[in-house]
Amino acid sequence: MRFLPVFLDLTSGPIVLVGSGTAATAKLHLLRAAGAHVRWFSPEIDVAEELLLASHYAGRIGIAIGEPGEDDLAGALAVVSAAGSGIDERIAQRARALSVPVNVVDRPDLSTFVFPAIVDRGDVVVATGTGGASPVLARRLRERIEAILPARIGEFAAMMSRYRDRIAAARKRYPGLSLRRFWERVIDGPIGAAFHAGRTRDAEAALAMAIDNAGTSATKTEGIVHLVGAGPGDPDLLTLRALHALQAADAIFYDDLVGPDILGRARRDAELIFVGKRKGEPGIGQAEINRRLAAAAKAGRRVVRLKGGDPFIFGRGGEELEHLRQEGIPVHVVPGITAALGCAAEAGLPLTFRSEATRLALVTANTAEGPDNVDWNGLADPQTTVIVYMGLTAAEDVRRGLIGAGRDPQTPAAVLARGTRPDAVTAVGRLDDLPALAASAGDGPALLVIGYVVARSEPWRTQQDAAIEVAA
Ligand code: SAH
Repeated sequence: MRFLPVFLDLTSGPIVLVGSGTAATAKLHLLRAAGAHVRWFSPEIDVAEELLLASHYAGRIGIAIGEPGEDDLAGALAVVSAAGSGIDERIAQRARALSVPVNVVDRPDLSTFVFPAIVDRGDVVVATGTGGASPVLARRLRERIEAILPARIGEFAAMMSRYRDRIAAARKRYPGLSLRRFWERVIDGPIGAAFHAGRTRDAEAALAMAIDNAGTSATKTEGIVHLVGAGPGDPDLLTLRALHALQAADAIFYDDLVGPDILGRARRDAELIFVGKRKGEPGIGQAEINRRLAAAAKAGRRVVRLKGGDPFIFGRGGEELEHLRQEGIPVHVVPGITAALGCAAEAGLPLTFRSEATRLALVTANTAEGPDNVDWNGLADPQTTVIVYMGLTAAEDVRRGLIGAGRDPQTPAAVLARGTRPDAVTAVGRLDDLPALAASAGDGPALLVIGYVVARSEPWRTQQDAAIEVAA
């Protein structure tokens, strides 16, 4: 490690910037946006526009035309030079002679400090460096860090900072209070979860209350349940918030639709509890799942209830939510990409299309009452794209129901099985052939899709091309 990352207080002195090209103006904006007082030396005279732009920030800016001498550099907090070969070397030498830190853009050999790639979330700043070896690599690392940091982390830090004095006062009243434990509970518990979910006012109110009660509840840890959609199968289709919940979880209750790839993204020492149904076995039942979720949260654990697709689409997430609410347990719902959206994207199958498909119906043929209870007449409109969940074994009922309601038997139809997984299969044909298509798709999970838009999908086009080849 040649370069030690440090955070510089920009209010403690001016920064001298030299140069007028794009590299120099990029640094000008970075420094000004951070509130720096900049003394800008430009070899170019025509800088009015940049100067105007750079004046919009807090702090001062001064401009001089030409090259700074030693007197101009003395007393600077740091010098940044991007003036080009010749000038840069002279500037670096003068700065070093004065022991003022100097950065020459893209010249680590002339620099005594380098700029890291920065993730800027207000008070939370992450700096990434490669010792000047590869700015591109530093930027890639920054992108990854951007992705894992919750979007509101900066505001969250600012809120905690606003309450620092208040908790310090509470500690005077309760000397046994551990500040570290208190803040850990705030960050990892319901307050942090509410804040990151956008309920910032609720979170702040809860924080204020937690501080007022700090002495009495100091030993109690509060559990929480995240009701998380895992998406259709491909772990890359998890949302960032789902990933955060998985990485913070103590216990994860998961269904049969959730594969090992997704569980592999969980915190390594999280307990994984299967509560789905295996073929031919009854499963533990919804009431028992509800009971176990509530018990785990009441024991103070951070619980994730992980479901395939989206928890609120044919996932009984609503029932779990209501049960946990009744028990007074904090619950947060993290949406997932539902199977219909994941499968449609994979198959290049637009679900709506101008003047051809103006309505989308997500239905299940597996209602508790059986397929005869489905309102097929409600799906009669030829512009409705119908997507049937849990319909693989009910393909014949779906065919009969839709044709009985007046849908053209020649309507394009597809069966999308194991969508977004490595063994995904699509079968395309006509509504009239739906049972045969379902039989050809193999095991589930699978969706049935009926509507004109199926003819616009990738598998349909491929099949047409193959048919033309056979005919030729
Ligand atoms: N909550 C889930 C649906 C659960 S019901 C969601 O939003 O996707 C289970 C049904 O979802 C399956 O019977 C099947 O119809 C569908 N399904 C789930 N994952 C699927 C996948 N990868 N490919 C095709 N269908 C899938």
